[in-house]
Amino acid sequence: MAKIVIDESLCTGCGLCSSNCPDCFEIGDDNLAHVIKDDCASCDLKEIAEQCPVSAILVK
Ligand code: SF4
Repeated sequence: MAKIVIDESLCTGCGLCSSNCPDCFEIGDDNLAHVIKDDCASCDLKEIAEQCPVSAILVK
């Protein structure tokens, strides 16, 4: 299983990850992305991480 970490010092809260996979990411009250789950059958987490404009999603 991939381990996903959001670097909160980089995230701008743009919402791209949560719109790409609402099952895995949500934008919190702090306007930053949070990981809901890091094991997803419906998305490619590595691809979503690569699309983050500030490379704030780390896939381990
Ligand atoms: S795509 Fe990147 S910058 Fe945008 S909300 Fe997600 S983690 Fe934050």
